[in-house]
Amino acid sequence: MTQRALIVGLGIGGMSAAIALKRHGWTPVIIERAPERRKGGYFIGLRDEGKNAAAALGVLDVMEKRTPEHIQFWDVRKDGTRRRIADLTQETNAPIALLRGDIEEALWHGLEDKIEVRFGTVPVVIVNGVTQAKVTFRNDDGQETTETYDLVIGADGVRSTVRKLVFGPDKAFFHSIGTMLCAFPLARPVIGFKAGDGLMVADVKRTLTVFPLEDRPSTALFSYRTKNPEKASKQNPLPTLRRIFADLDGDGIISRALEDLASTDDFLFDSVQMVKMPRWSQGRVLLLGDSAWCLTLYSGMGASAGMIGGQVLGEALAACPHDIAAALETFEARMRPFIRKHQRFIALRSQLFVPSNRAALWGRRVLWQILLRSRKYLSRKST
Ligand SMILES: Cc1cc2nc3c(=O)[nH]c(=O)nc-3n(C[C@H](O)[C@H](O)[C@H](O)COP(=O)(O)OP(=O)(O)OC[C@H]3O[C@@H](n4cnc5c(N)ncnc54)[C@H](O)[C@@H]3O)c2cc1C
Repeated sequence: MTQRALIVGLGIGGMSAAIALKRHGWTPVIIERAPERRKGGYFIGLRDEGKNAAAALGVLDVMEKRTPEHIQFWDVRKDGTRRRIADLTQETNAPIALLRGDIEEALWHGLEDKIEVRFGTVPVVIVNGVTQAKVTFRNDDGQETTETYDLVIGADGVRSTVRKLVFGPDKAFFHSIGTMLCAFPLARPVIGFKAGDGLMVADVKRTLTVFPLEDRPSTALFSYRTKNPEKASKQNPLPTLRRIFADLDGDGIISRALEDLASTDDFLFDSVQMVKMPRWSQGRVLLLGDSAWCLTLYSGMGASAGMIGGQVLGEALAACPHDIAAALETFEARMRPFIRKHQRFIALRSQLFVPSNRAALWGRRVLWQILLRSRKYLSRKST
């Protein structure tokens, strides 16, 4: 009989794990809280680590790539003046731009109807045994059922229910960066900028970044620093952002973006939390993706880490087919160095997105200028 895994969450981490487990002879079942598969989402930059993992999962070729052909980034000042700054596509290990929904669409394609997915279903009780875990689910009709699995994988995001049920409350694992984010697609181009233009309106403790995408609306990302992000995450985003960004709206970019926020349901407003755990598994329950190690948007590696995690788990289970505990040890040993490396610099990288003081704001501007000039110099030298 094949071994059965329950995967909680139909995101990048959950689908990657499902593809890899199926490939190695397991029978995965996915449960997803939402009534149907989500689409769209925000801008994601996928670097070599993510591209390699997507290729290993067999989905890179079917993934839409949305890096604009003529991309330029601008630093926009309070008074509306602007300066060119270096753009992401010129970096070493440059990311390809896409939407979260593009990665999920490609992974969904990779599931190829081979895996059972139950929508509108959440876990309510997990009894974690030595050789199996017994899970009680509840669906949208309120019906409860209990099933037994060889492995339960919590890939249910930064506010994971599996983590709460088995490992402990959020506060035991959350490491706040002290920032809030609000990401959504703009309904229209930014006035005065071309398609393919990205921009940053930055001030101390608050920024609006616009990420351009080919054939899709740009993503607006508002970020700001606050003393109590968990409290802030319960507020209404629109009045909150209007108040915080009011005096940065010299040329109307902010207020037009916030009008677009008012007209969409496809937005994410939340505090930015890194998740740190001493172990990602306990008995027959494993966490993977943001639920286990949320690297936050500042790392630019969360989506990649989810795909790598799925692939590594599949390989570890294949290497130890009769010893799940040993496979989970192998998974920890292979994933820890990568996660540790990227978690180490998150607080520092957050300064590039939301500078916490004048010195950081100034340092960030100087850095972008140095990068731009060094790239211009290198491209002149190579022609
Ligand atoms: C604004 C922003 C920009 C980003 N930019 C980048 C980037 O440039 N590069 C990069 O690599 N990463 C980036 N990331 C990070 C990346 O998006 C995430 O790391 C990745 O999507 C996490 O995938 P996941 O599957 O672990 O979790 P999620 O995407 O959170 O998926 C979890 C799934 O579980 C479901 N679920 C939740 N609770 C339950 C439950 N109780 N029962 C059943 N289902 C449940 C949810 O509905 C969802 O479908 C960014 C993130 C943000 C917010």
